[in-house]
Amino acid sequence: MHRAKKMTPYYEKSAGIAEVETIYKELATRPIERQCILNTGCCHFLQTGETPFLTRGEALVAAKAVRNTGRKELPKRTDGACKLLHPRTSRCLIYEGRPFGCRTHFCQAAGGPYARKEVVDLIHRLEEIDRKLDGTGSKELHEAIEEVLKEQRY
Ligand code: SF4
Repeated sequence: MHRAKKMTPYYEKSAGIAEVETIYKELATRPIERQCILNTGCCHFLQTGETPFLTRGEALVAAKAVRNTGRKELPKRTDGACKLLHPRTSRCLIYEGRPFGCRTHFCQAAGGPYARKEVVDLIHRLEEIDRKLDGTGSKELHEAIEEVLKEQRY
């Protein structure tokens, strides 16, 4: 028997995107002393040994930001840095839609990672949105965004 893939209705995706964007706005209002100095250290995964993981809602927001740049897929990059880091300008191509992990400054230059207790309520909300969107938990940044971009190609 042929089993159709369960599709998330469009309205759920847009609701998920709106909820995640609200979380990002709330995060920006938290009185946590950090300063991103755009040195892009945290975008060089091979050097840091750390890669952000994204819930499905974050991936939808990031994929929307990629589409807004006119792209339908992630740029190619083979040096172990984030594919969304512009190779010449060294700026994030989706800064407004960058994932939660990129906003919580796990790089030392920005002041080190947020303490989990400072943002744990927001993390729980992202996980809840992931469940509502039939997500399967956090995925590596490129994998998570590419999965959404692939779905949107059809
Ligand atoms: S999404 Fe942007 S901020 Fe996050 S790691 Fe990639 S280039 Fe850096």
